[in-house]
Amino acid sequence: MNKTVACPNCDKPAVMDSSNRFRPFCSERCRLIDLGEWVQEGYAISDRESASHSHLDDEQDPYSKH
Ligand SMILES: [Zn+2]
Repeated sequence: MNKTVACPNCDKPAVMDSSNRFRPFCSERCRLIDLGEWVQEGYAISDRESASHSHLDDEQDPYSKH
């Protein structure tokens, strides 16, 4: 009776049943990871806009010289 789908995060079978509160994910962890990913993406986009290019150059220079 248990219908399963591939978890969007890890592709493991996730039970599509009321017993699985985290459907369509297989577990709470996968659900949080998936949520966290798009939240981080949102931050990364605004971060890149404000941090800009010059900061990146400053950080990369000492590493490349080593
Ligand atoms: Zn999963």
